[in-house]
Parts: sequence; structure tokens; C-alpha cells
Amino acid sequence: MADAFDVVVIGGGPGGYVAAIAAAQAGLKVACVEAREALGGTCLNVGCIPSKTLLHWSERYAEAANDFATHGIKVGKLELDLKAMLANKEKVVDGFTAGIAFLFKKNKVESVHGEAKLMAADKVAVALADGGERELNAKNVIIATGSVPSELPDVPIDEKRIVSSTGALSLAKVPKHLVVVGGGYIGLELGSVWRRLGADVTVVEFLDRIVPTMDNDLAKLFRRELSKQGFKFKLSTKVAAAKATSRGVTLTLEPAAGGEAETMKADAVLVAVGRRPFADGLGLDAVGVAQDARGMVVVDDRYRTNLAGVYAIGDVVAGPMLAHKASFEGIAVAETIAGGHGTMNRDVIPAVVYTQPEVAWVGRTEQELKEDGVAFKKGNFPFTANSRAKTIGQTAGVAKVLADAESDRVLGVHIMSADAGSLIAEAAAVMEFGGSSEDIARICHAHPTLSEGVMEAASLAAFGKTIHM
Ligand code: FAD
Repeated sequence: MADAFDVVVIGGGPGGYVAAIAAAQAGLKVACVEAREALGGTCLNVGCIPSKTLLHWSERYAEAANDFATHGIKVGKLELDLKAMLANKEKVVDGFTAGIAFLFKKNKVESVHGEAKLMAADKVAVALADGGERELNAKNVIIATGSVPSELPDVPIDEKRIVSSTGALSLAKVPKHLVVVGGGYIGLELGSVWRRLGADVTVVEFLDRIVPTMDNDLAKLFRRELSKQGFKFKLSTKVAAAKATSRGVTLTLEPAAGGEAETMKADAVLVAVGRRPFADGLGLDAVGVAQDARGMVVVDDRYRTNLAGVYAIGDVVAGPMLAHKASFEGIAVAETIAGGHGTMNRDVIPAVVYTQPEVAWVGRTEQELKEDGVAFKKGNFPFTANSRAKTIGQTAGVAKVLADAESDRVLGVHIMSADAGSLIAEAAAVMEFGGSSEDIARICHAHPTLSEGVMEAASLAAFGKTIHM
């Protein structure tokens, strides 16, 4: 028997579950189909939440091992109980996924557990997880099927010795030598976790720099900081193959520009070379939903596909693969379907790397502005001159504000510091309001806070001077 809904959402990740709740809150009858056992998608199950839990507690461990004594705190013999650390991470994840199930009930979103296939613009067939099939009639369908890790042809992931980000969240023991293939944020975050817990970590990156979307100046500083923490980097290097045995992994490395190959031994290898959009098995070809060469579902500025009534959001469409971007797109689509004018500002999407120090940015990088010939002013303020950074012993980093040379409108803010991920929200708010660097500089910031660093960078951009530099 077919059930009729105003909206059927395919995928229960931060794009899909948020879209479902927002649509239900707008008074629509909504079902959300999710193939996984638990709701929450990549983010809650094997992404943001478990990685941030491990990052937080591994950082506490490293602090206890390396920093406490400097500040007069003596601990006895420090011991790592990896099993307990991993079990705590699972507990945090379970709490969240159960929380979404509760929110679905509260908002009367029908949760359907199974694999969905689009049969027509208004029909979704679900192969139910506990057997059988169900057909859902939908006035509107939202595709929110997310992404999966990309793989390399001769580096077969077994999730034991050669792992994706998912396996790297649950290694049974700390590897002596972990090779991270790919210098993007996921590799550096998970590399940080295992480095802090005692692994030697080598990052092999094809490009001549890490985190390609990061502002060049910050990327250089960031690499220097990670190197101080013991990270080794092999840049401009390609991983041609990796072979796992019961004792370890042998990697074949080649210079990116071509040349003689070399081998490298590792106890574990994390393949973190990006993610690809996931729409396998959805039947998009058959119903004629357009995808680009990378497999991204093609949408317009209101997230409409070429098939009327079918929308797509999150990692499966273009733009940064980030949870908050997916969620905001979900809300925008729900508002559109409910008769409003849902949209989001794609120019103001903050990004954060949750290492120590954190690196966060919003808007455009200096290299992008130069490439586009935009005249700009900049203010760079080092956290060595920030009082709060000194009190907490975390002075590594800089705040950089880029503003239009003529109008002073903020074009980009880049922060490397403790808690940069929280500091970037102020920059995003100012940019959303079309504010200037003078606006930030003239806001009275509390003392002593790290946010004063951003204020002083803005002051340098606006007036070419600031009090503490
Ligand atoms: P997903 O979260 O991928 O959800 C899609 C869901 O659709 C999945 O649960 C899948 O099972 C389901 N699905 C797919 N096909 C079907 C089908 N046919 N039928 C039914 N269900 C289907 N982002 C951040 O913003 N901050 C972070 O700190 C961060 N950290 C990350 C750390 C790691 C290790 C990883 C891997 C990712 C991280 N991300 C982070 C990225 C973030 O997880 C994704 O951007 C986000 O989950 C995308 O949301 P989504 O809803 O588009 O897709």
C-alpha cells in the first residue's frame, strides 16, 4: 500500500534530518528514509561527533602528558585506556542518534528504516531493513544521501591496517607508525588524535601544501605547528600503492612530478583523500535526475533538480562538504516547499579544522582575492600578543582580517588559535550583515579573551594600527 506524504526525505544525515524536522515544523506531513541503523548520517555516526570526541579527550591526555607539569600540576603515572576512550566516543554517538529519533517523534516525522530508490518524481520505493518493501507517494522529494570516502586504486581499504576515516575512529591499538594519505582536514584531525596518543605520524600529500582550501599564510603556519607536535610531512608525493600484511603495510611512494619510487613502512595507513558524493542505487539515471561528471546532483540556487518536485542538498550537491552547510540547505528547501523563499548565503560558510591550535575561516582567502584582482587591506594579529592566549599557554597562531580596500567591507577572516572554531562565528555574523573591519574593531570585546585577537586584526585592517602591536 502506498503512503502519501508532502515531503519524503532520502537520507537521515544533518542535511536530511534537519530538512525533515524543518518541513514538519512548517506543518507538512514528512517521512525520512535512512538506510543506516541509526539516524544522523556520516556526521553523527562516523564523522564530526566521534572525531571531535576523540580530538577533545586525546588533547586532554596530551596536555596531561606534556603541559600539566609546567603549570604545577603533577600527575602520577599517566596511562591510556584506549578501550575506554573508544567506548566513551560510542556512548556520545549513541546519545546523539537517539536524540534525533526523539526529535522525529516530537515533530511527527515518520522514520522509515531502509534503502530508498526514486521511482518517479513523486514515488519512492523503500527496501525495508527488516524485509519487505514500502512505496511512498511524495509531493516533494529531498535527496540528502551524502558522501562516502574516496579511494585510491592500488590502496585497498580493509578497515584494519589500511583504513578510511571510519576505521581510523576505532583502531584497536595505537599504531607505532601511522601514515596518513592526504593532508586535508580529516587526515590532520585524525592524525592528531593518534599522534597525541603516541603514534609517529607521517602525512603524505600529493600537493606541495596542506589543506588546499586554507589561506596560504595560515596553511604554512599550521604545518609548522603540526611539525612541532611531531608530525612529519612528505609533500609533492604520490602514494602509488600500499600492500598490507599481517605485520604492517608497505607503501610505494613516487614524487608527484614523476621520478624514482621509494617504499615506506607503516603499522597502519589512513586513506583521507577526500570524499565523493553518494547517490548509488537511488535510480537517478532511470528517472532522469541530472548529475555532473563527479556524480554531484545538479541543483539551481534553490536546490531544485531538473525534475520538478525533486530537490537535493548536502554533500551530494556542490559546495563544501560540511554538516552545517547541509543543515542550512535542508532548512532552505523545507522553507521553499512550505511556500517561503528558502535560501542560504553560500559566501558565508565557516570552515574549522579542530586540531590544536584550531584553524577556522570564513569568506575568501588572500590568494583568491589576488587571483581575482580584488584590491584589499589586511590586518594580521599574532596570538603571542593576546593576553588570554598567554594565560592559557596557547599563543601559536594568528588572526587575519581581509577587507575591501575601498569600502572596508570584510571579505574574509582566517584564524589559527585555541578555539578558533568559536571565534569565527563573530566574523561570519559581521559578514552576513555586510559589516566592515572597522565595525569589528569598534565592538567592545571582553578582556581577557581570544576574541580580542580578532578585534586587533580588524583594527590593523581598518586603521593600520592597534594598541598591542
Ligand atoms: P550524510 O551525513 O552523509 O548522510 C547521508 C545519509 O543518507 C547516510 O546516513 C546514508 O546512510 C543515507 N543514505 C544514502 N543513500 C540512501 C538510500 N538510498 N536510502 C536511504 N538512506 C540513504 N563536517 C563538519 O561540518 N564539521 C566537522 O567537524 C566534520 N567532521 C568530519 C569528520 C569526519 C571523519 C568525516 C568523515 C566527516 C566530517 N564532516 C564534518 C563532514 C560531515 O560529516 C558531512 O558534511 C555531513 O555529514 C553531510 O551531511 P549529509 O546529510 O549531506 O550526508
